[in-house]
Amino acid sequence: MNIKPSTPFPTAALIDGQWVNSPKTFAVLDPATGEKIADVPDLTPEDTKRAIDAAAKAFPAWAAKPAKDRAVILRRWFDLIIAETESLAQLMTAEQGKPIAEARGEVAYGASFIEWFAEEGKRAYGHTIPTTVASRRYVTIKQPIGVCAAITPWNFPIAMITRKVGCALAAGCTIVVKPSEETPLSAIALAKLAVDAGVPAGVFNVITTLDGPGCGKVLTADDRVRKLTFTGSTEVGRILYRQSADTIKKLTLELGGNAPLIVFDDADLQQAVAGTMASKFRNAGQTCVCANRILVQAGIFDKFVASLKEAAGKLVVAPGREATSTIGPLINGDAIEKVKSLLSDAVSHGAKIEMGGKPDDHGALFFSPTIVTGITDKMAIATEEIFGPVASIFRFETEAEAIRIANDTPFGLAAYLFSQNLSRAWRVAEALEAGMVGVNEGVFSNEVVPFGGIKQSGLGREGAQEGLDEYLETKFICLGGISA
Ligand code: NAD
Repeated sequence: MNIKPSTPFPTAALIDGQWVNSPKTFAVLDPATGEKIADVPDLTPEDTKRAIDAAAKAFPAWAAKPAKDRAVILRRWFDLIIAETESLAQLMTAEQGKPIAEARGEVAYGASFIEWFAEEGKRAYGHTIPTTVASRRYVTIKQPIGVCAAITPWNFPIAMITRKVGCALAAGCTIVVKPSEETPLSAIALAKLAVDAGVPAGVFNVITTLDGPGCGKVLTADDRVRKLTFTGSTEVGRILYRQSADTIKKLTLELGGNAPLIVFDDADLQQAVAGTMASKFRNAGQTCVCANRILVQAGIFDKFVASLKEAAGKLVVAPGREATSTIGPLINGDAIEKVKSLLSDAVSHGAKIEMGGKPDDHGALFFSPTIVTGITDKMAIATEEIFGPVASIFRFETEAEAIRIANDTPFGLAAYLFSQNLSRAWRVAEALEAGMVGVNEGVFSNEVVPFGGIKQSGLGREGAQEGLDEYLETKFICLGGISA
């Protein structure tokens, strides 16, 4: 598979329906090989301002369009994405590195948000409120919030964009998207298909740039941008939260996580191992919801570690483009260095590497699937996101201890537990400080459920009716002077 000549998508940014190039460009690299895939424009803050102008100009007409007409266009966009599944998946694998089978899955997952929100946008209902005064009537209506800005990460280059743009457009908003500088090509490809589907000029704009902070400053300072939706690190989320204060923007922040995955003695071993494998090793461990701390009860500990080693031993480390690959490269050199340093810190504090623990010889950015035991809650590997194929395992004795360790983090995105005891499962699910809990499931996100975190993992929800509401304002109208 060779991506370079076969990509059917542009390599330019999109502002006001026009493909925009610039004298300054930056290279997008294939993390599996280090080879350049394409150059894309390195746009300036002035370009971001032009994109906001375009989104503001396009907003009144898009907002005024009946939701069912917007849905027709969104549905066409969905169909085009599905029709292009293979080329989108190949493009994503080339620029992000994930195994091609996972990339195909991400296209389907990402597209599902567009299809679902196209329908859900038709149901942005207000309601009537029983009056308190005989001459008055009270109603609420839902209206699109206005121009939105989206800043997205590299780990899910398609889904992190469709989850935001599908919803914003269905609600009647227009949007300026700044994708990660690591993976701009997937964003551009989505925009091309949106244009082909009939999304009008200015409704969906894409700014490619190496200057994330400069672009972010323009997006947050502009009063016309009424909402910012950001997925990325907590560190950058904090900066954007502060910057948004001056214009009192509505915010959705999907930030970092430190998910606990708890395996109780009464778990179904096979289910627990399968769930852990899916949660931990998907996307080479580079997901915000992946099990960052695996807590295993003493009675099942040895059996669980042995079974997990057996399952992890079957993973195939290889460039994502190879059909058999299940672990691709990490995104860049910093990611490899971080994994190495977290492991060496853990080992220096007494942790034991059960398997892997070293780079893989497929290339500079590959790391072998790793299992490490003897983790304690003060090690850096337990307090920071690993973002690599490393299963780090604690041992615990009691349910109360598991809950204490699980909640001992400023993050609260996802949590998982494995138990066949319904009372325990419910009790622990309620006690876990997380926006999402998987019981006997290692992967649970989809378009109909609210995705998001509590504590320092963020604000707001994406997907589901909660997600749509994030792009709508509620207006209360009091109709007075009604005579009997
Ligand atoms: P990142 O925060 O480094 O970058 C995210 C985006 O922000 C990129 O587009 C980047 O260019 C941009 N950016 C960086 N500095 C900026 C600034 N000062 N102003 C404006 N934009 C700026 O994150 P990443 O490395 O791309 O992604 C990994 C992180 O994302 C992890 O922490 C992961 O947990 C998190 N994540 C969270 C979710 C979620 O839904 N909660 C989903 C995926 C990833």
